[in-house]
Amino acid sequence: MLLLIPGPVTTHADVRQAANRDIAPWDQTSRAEIGALLERLRVLAGGVQGVHAALSLPGSGHFVVEAALRSFLPASASAAPGCILIPETGQYSDRMIRLAREAGRRVVTLPASLTTPLAAAEVEAALLADPGITHLGLVYSETSTGIVHDVAGIGAVVRALGRRMILDAVSAFGALPISIAEHPEIDALLFTANKCLEALPGFGMAICPIARLEAARGQAGSWTLDLADVYRNSIENGPGAARFTPPIQAMAALAVALDRLDAEGGPPARLARYRANMAALLDGLAALGLHPMLDRAVQGPIIANIRAPANPDWDLPAFVDALKRHGVVISNFRNTEAPSMRIGAIGAIGLAEIHMAVAAIGRALEDCGWSGQNGTAAPGGRAQGMSA
Ligand SMILES: *Cc1c(COP(=O)(O)O)cnc(C)c1O
Repeated sequence: MLLLIPGPVTTHADVRQAANRDIAPWDQTSRAEIGALLERLRVLAGGVQGVHAALSLPGSGHFVVEAALRSFLPASASAAPGCILIPETGQYSDRMIRLAREAGRRVVTLPASLTTPLAAAEVEAALLADPGITHLGLVYSETSTGIVHDVAGIGAVVRALGRRMILDAVSAFGALPISIAEHPEIDALLFTANKCLEALPGFGMAICPIARLEAARGQAGSWTLDLADVYRNSIENGPGAARFTPPIQAMAALAVALDRLDAEGGPPARLARYRANMAALLDGLAALGLHPMLDRAVQGPIIANIRAPANPDWDLPAFVDALKRHGVVISNFRNTEAPSMRIGAIGAIGLAEIHMAVAAIGRALEDCGWSGQNGTAAPGGRAQGMSA
């Protein structure tokens, strides 16, 4: 089965095979392996030895996003509260807003377009308007819209104004460019193993400046979700030491996935493959009469929202089921107000798999009696009551 959902993605058999054994995470050999894995991730993120630390946290991506918010943003009730500006770029920014608020952190939202990338000038104006804002929370690749936001330009604005940034790079890291050394404004660069790194789910990672981790001690209001405490533990007990049982099989799989990333030529080569995948996907769908919500000029390489066929009895879950019978899984919920389907272009797949997926989509549309329909729904609009 081909997974074209936005994560977990299709993985290579060697990556899955690495998880097919019993491993004792507290064993000295395992500790050394975890320590080496974290070092590789620090280097991959452009982290500098002695300046940046790579930390892992069990759980899915949301757990590490919440941990970063708690760790670096002092609570509203504290003596010197923090405040985070979160541009409303889509569902993942909405989730960051909710995580921060439920953790008792002050949030200021910035309305944003769902069809065009966020302008650095808008962020600058919002930061200037409220000197109490200490942080910007940004989603690099908005997995709900497919738009990739301008981290270089927006980061420069945050840096110039002396504010800090928490960057959700969960659906970006491993393909889209990022070097934390070039972004001293970043407190936490966040990602997981199961998207562009093409490994298994089970943990999140944060690359953080060590000085900021030291300054963040005792701030999280949570033991499990405290990145400063993860760092403290790595100093006291060694870099590969975990506080609680880590998802060790998923970590072993990531080590193999990183070998594959190196062999491919690193993130630039992976990005080129994803871009080619996305172009072939959009071309193939266009030939079926299906078109993306976004202009091609702003369509990111990770995931596309495709307008549903204009047929009045269009039913996404029924289509997803029909497509599964042809060996392809896509997301079974939509992120736009107008009927759409989300299809990912990432994972251990290339043009052969994309062509197979397009052919399967054509057959599934025929099975359902929806072929030959042009998607005419208007782009944009926020989905009502849609979840992940
Ligand atoms: C996938 C994703 C997450 C994390 O999702 P989980 O289901 O918690 O792993 C966070 N942010 C973005 C932008 C994502 O694409």
